[in-house]
Amino acid sequence: MVIGILGGGQLARMLALAGYPLGLKFIVLEPAADACAADVAEHLQGDYGDDALLAELADKADIVTYEFENVPAAAVAFLAERVAVYPPRQALVSAQDRLDEKALFRRLGIDTPEFVAVNSLDELEQAMEQVGWPAVVKTRTQGYDGNGQAVLKQPGDLAPAWQSLGGVPAIVETFVPFEREVSVIAVRSTSGEMVCYPLTENTHRDGILRLSIARSDDPMQEKAANYAERLLDELDYVGVLALELFQAGDRLLANEFAPRVHNSGHWTQDGAETSQFENHLRAVLGLPLGATDIVGYTAMVNLVGLIPAPEDVLVNTHSHLHLYGKEPRPGRKVGHINLCAQSREELAAELKLILELAGE
Ligand code: AMP
Repeated sequence: MVIGILGGGQLARMLALAGYPLGLKFIVLEPAADACAADVAEHLQGDYGDDALLAELADKADIVTYEFENVPAAAVAFLAERVAVYPPRQALVSAQDRLDEKALFRRLGIDTPEFVAVNSLDELEQAMEQVGWPAVVKTRTQGYDGNGQAVLKQPGDLAPAWQSLGGVPAIVETFVPFEREVSVIAVRSTSGEMVCYPLTENTHRDGILRLSIARSDDPMQEKAANYAERLLDELDYVGVLALELFQAGDRLLANEFAPRVHNSGHWTQDGAETSQFENHLRAVLGLPLGATDIVGYTAMVNLVGLIPAPEDVLVNTHSHLHLYGKEPRPGRKVGHINLCAQSREELAAELKLILELAGE
């Protein structure tokens, strides 16, 4: 069985690594010559708009999935006429547009920050009456890792922010003074079976995820899982979906969802009974899904722009190093370290050391 993947970065690489024990083979379509998934998969190098390459992918793969949400929806539509593609196109389309995404949350009764669509500086000024200060303005499409957004603290911020985003269609939303950011990874298979991982608490810096801590018995687990299930049901979803939320008091407000395996779920490789990557593959293949329980106490630290000496990481025997085969550059995710400890105290002590190694 051959799995095709749109995108050949680290997520595709880790999907392939999780799929070999299941007897699967992989082929990725990715424009970059130095795609890091190419170490472990056949690489079709070229554009997502290249119909000949898409046809070749459809021909060689039994099932196609994708590793990032900015894949052109047209490429997915082209493929879907020739081969099974999961997650479904509608999930991709909703996740690509922050307005559609927030409207979907609202329609499903999933709490969100107050938001308004804005298409001009005038509209932004008017919208501030509804969303209040402070606020965040975000481009509707093409945003990632904190790009394509600006915080608005006072009226003088509006014009420069609007200009910095390039005057493209946007949404403005209330800035949530959250206590913590959490995400929930949920999975649905072609048979309709659903499972959900324990809630993950996430810390970002400069818009990039730095640290994820998995929380067993989190008081917000049920609510978060319920929100994720509403999305899976509504979208007739197949695969892994990550829902990112802000917690403010006893409210959980949805920020965005990703129709793919997600950085905040990397701890599942070593800290859960079944990794998100394996469960994504099981889901698209219609196989029974694996247990999602946490094994011990677990966390993940991202390596952004630097790779510490492996011996310094692994001298701590509960560390698991995952490198992506990428050259370090400022702001570039080049690997992560998963920690699996026997107690909360042990995890805290080990995290301190690992965060230092990661330059945090
Ligand atoms: P996003 O690109 O929407 O994931 O936003 C990147 C980061 O910006 C989030 O992880 C938050 O830390 C912060 N952020 C985004 N939207 C809001 C908001 N409405 N209120 C407070 N912080 C936000």
